[in-house]
Order: sequence, then structure tokens, then C-alpha cells
Amino acid sequence: MTKFVLFFYWLLGRRRFWQYYTNVTWSTCAECLKLHGRIAPDPARFPQRRDGCPREILPFSVWQLPEYKEKARRMRELAQAELERRRLFARAVEVLERDPEEALSLFDRAGGIELYLPEVERLADEKREFFLSNPQLKRRLGEIFLKRWSEKFGKPRYEVWPERMRIEREKWGERRIRELFL
Ligand SMILES: [Zn+2]
Repeated sequence: MTKFVLFFYWLLGRRRFWQYYTNVTWSTCAECLKLHGRIAPDPARFPQRRDGCPREILPFSVWQLPEYKEKARRMRELAQAELERRRLFARAVEVLERDPEEALSLFDRAGGIELYLPEVERLADEKREFFLSNPQLKRRLGEIFLKRWSEKFGKPRYEVWPERMRIEREKWGERRIRELFL
């Protein structure tokens, strides 16, 4: 985007743009994920969603449009990765009992994108009977979750957390995974 285009916007009286933010996590709905990073010339252009997902619409100057577009691209990537992670995780749950090897590989791929403890807890609960009769598989899955869990906290998005908080959170999750699977 050239300076000329920005100046053109400015001539049209456009001084600000707005960007839509949600929190990319396991519980954010797909519709809100699709809005993450979107840019509009008027905040009223964004749908009014009252579904409990976090929602913030922040203004920026017309001159910052190129960098915000780049930011929007990264935000969209993150949101799309979350949708892909859900697809992999859901598929893993679906095939777990008839094709456990495939399920382990899918859980591993999903965990490579991100791992959320509430989903791990729900899985342990929903498949309790199956895991009781397949202790070895349960153990292997626990190892996969542990490995992905420890990788999670090395990712850039967690690097901004205070060190102590990160370590405590990591240990807490590790304990929980052991409790449930090992
Ligand atoms: Zn939502």
C-alpha cells in the first residue's frame, strides 16, 4: 500500500480505522474467530455479537494502515490455526476407539498447534471407560500431552507472560495431565 493511497483516504476525511480483536482460545466461537483482525472504516460495521466471547474494537490512525494490515494477516493465521486444531482434535476423539494409532497421531498434531487443558480434562472424562480398559494407550496419550504441554510455554505468545506465572501454569498443567493419564 503506497503513501498515495493513504493520502487519498486522508483526503476523503478518513482519519481512523478500527480493528476487531477477540481472544483466540478453545472456547471462542468460530464466528468470532473469523472476525479476529478484521479492519473496518467504521466500528459500527462489525456485527454486534453478544455470545460471551471477548470482543474489542480498537482504533488506529489511517497512516498505520499498512502495519495493521500485516497484523491482521498474522491474527487471521492464528485464528485459522485454531480452527484447524479443533478439526484435528475432534477427529482424534472420533476415531480413538476404532483406530487408536491414528488418534494418537491426530492428538499430537493438534497439540503441536496448541493444547488446552479443559479439552484434555473433558476427553479423560468422556473416554473414562475406554481408557480404563486401555491403560497403555492412555499412558502414551499422556506422554504426548505432556510433551506438547511443555512446548506450549516456549511459544512466543506465552513469552510475554511473567516468568513465574508461566512456570506455575506449566507445572499445574503437568500435574493435571499426570493425574489424568499417567
Ligand atoms: Zn463468539
